[in-house]
Amino acid sequence: MKLAVEEGYVIPQRGGLRIALCYPNTHSIGMANLGLHTMYELFNSIPDVVCERVFLPDKAELVEYEKSGAPLMSLETQSRIKSFDVVAFSISFETDYLNMAKMLQLADIPVWAEERHEGHPLVIMGGAASFLNPEPIADFTDVIAVGEGEILAFQLIDAIVENASKRDILLSLAKIGRGFYVPSFYDVIYNEDGTVFDYIPNEKGIPKRVGRAVASVNPKEGTLRRALKRGETELAEFLLNQDTFCPSTAIWSPGAEMGDRLLVEISRGCSQGCRFCWAGYNYYPPRVVPAKDILEKAREWRHKTNKIGLVSTAVCDHPEISTILRELRAMDYRISVSSLRLDQISDELLDALVESRDQQIAVAPETGSDRLRRVINKNLTNDEIVDICGAVFDRGMLTVKLYMMVGLPTETDEDLDEMFVLVERIKNRMLEAGKKFGRAGKIIPSLNGFVPKPNTPLQWDAICDERELKRRIKYVSKGLSKIPNVEVRFMSARIAHEQALYSSGDRNIGKVIDAAARHGDLNRALRETNTDPAFHTSRDRSYDEFLPWSIVDSGLSFEFLKTEHEKARESLSSLPCPAVEKCTTCGVCPSTWLADAPEGLIQIQPLKIKQLLGIPASAG
Ligand code: SF4
Repeated sequence: MKLAVEEGYVIPQRGGLRIALCYPNTHSIGMANLGLHTMYELFNSIPDVVCERVFLPDKAELVEYEKSGAPLMSLETQSRIKSFDVVAFSISFETDYLNMAKMLQLADIPVWAEERHEGHPLVIMGGAASFLNPEPIADFTDVIAVGEGEILAFQLIDAIVENASKRDILLSLAKIGRGFYVPSFYDVIYNEDGTVFDYIPNEKGIPKRVGRAVASVNPKEGTLRRALKRGETELAEFLLNQDTFCPSTAIWSPGAEMGDRLLVEISRGCSQGCRFCWAGYNYYPPRVVPAKDILEKAREWRHKTNKIGLVSTAVCDHPEISTILRELRAMDYRISVSSLRLDQISDELLDALVESRDQQIAVAPETGSDRLRRVINKNLTNDEIVDICGAVFDRGMLTVKLYMMVGLPTETDEDLDEMFVLVERIKNRMLEAGKKFGRAGKIIPSLNGFVPKPNTPLQWDAICDERELKRRIKYVSKGLSKIPNVEVRFMSARIAHEQALYSSGDRNIGKVIDAAARHGDLNRALRETNTDPAFHTSRDRSYDEFLPWSIVDSGLSFEFLKTEHEKARESLSSLPCPAVEKCTTCGVCPSTWLADAPEGLIQIQPLKIKQLLGIPASAG
């Protein structure tokens, strides 16, 4: 049924290596994930590799699966997952870990790596969540992709093709030292108090830590920015003409969420260094896709849709954003963006968004307190936020969504009270603008509990105690609800704590995930596994503690993160990442990609490879 309305999928016409690409959520949600599209396109671009998709059945289907015991099947050829050579999960959110375990159970594949034998598929996990902290899913996995798929896909396939046994494949991947973490090659040693003491490689030639692999969408982004600024047109032109892989929608899937639009990743990473933001630090350095590649993709798809979603953590950071917006508008595209960074909103972007009327404007003040915003290094004041919202309202878009966090480090009730003041001011500004249009809009604050994330400067902080977080969320939502034209939404303290457990836990949390997936009940899983979640989530960690996710070398130096953490405590802000060559500020550029990445890994040209080899894709 789903295939009947899709276009662009690949029906395998040949043998070769078979990959089941699994998304641990439903088809509708999975098809809105650009990472899934990218991996599907990449795998299918490699000679003698065929990749099919697998999704978590929706609720009603799941009941049927469980009743009948029928095995989980791939979408394209309805093949049993067990029959594939590789089962590759793409995991963006820790909350999908349970779904991942559930899918293995439904596929009749042993959940624990040690229970699988040579005849079982190789199980690999990739995606943002898995390399942020791989430990909670380590025992489920043969190998974890540490970094970005654009370069790892090719190395993975090479290792599989060149080695006969599963063990040899894993050894050859682990020995690369960057990009592939094989948990079974490391023994975790714990201290008496339950904290991690160290990871000890149990095979020869295995590195002590696994480096993060960084794909270079455009390795010269910093140079490009400077060249444009200085008017060095020849250099800028050269850089802009470099061939680049442009991650974008691969399959047209109108029934799925956002399935009616072309999604294009225009940049990766963000320069601002907001201290709570895992995406910012874990995708350093910021990189961009040149406008020409984005526009080429847009032209290619225009006959199919007039909607385009620009995917980026910092849309306006793109040095060619004006050209992109102008050209897309000229093609009569309705433009939406994945996120709007307040400090970077430009008139032309607002005009484009208003013109397309395709999305509700959502901005992220994070808090109502200027002091707390310095703690998290979000360098904006309440006055600036009100002005920016005003610019939105003056264009007739009278409803805005405000992303706010509760439970930030050093937060007091006085800080929370400042949210009421800020939202009241924004509401008044909306009413003032509304007079011109003869109508009023809505302010929609969306409250989330702050969850400390690995590899960020706030990684050492405890999440706010669950009862206290609940109190604060209630306090804020009650206060905001009293303001007319305000509609509050909030995430429960419970969910924030669950997220914290999966994102900051150690290898022992795998047992909790398995039990929770079987019972559909986290509390029961915690009891059954005798796990105290507070140990993993609700204690401040010392700088001396060996953090469970330290097995991954993200490239960020300990000194940098520590200094940023200390500055947070003193409410001191820092400058953004300059994204220039030879910078050593955070440690990522010298250690991760510019220094020793082999040239072949820098530019990714999978489509070219396919064309050069004359391999036809049999599209549906
Ligand atoms: S080393 Fe400098 S340019 Fe590179 S990511 Fe870190 S702060 Fe940015």
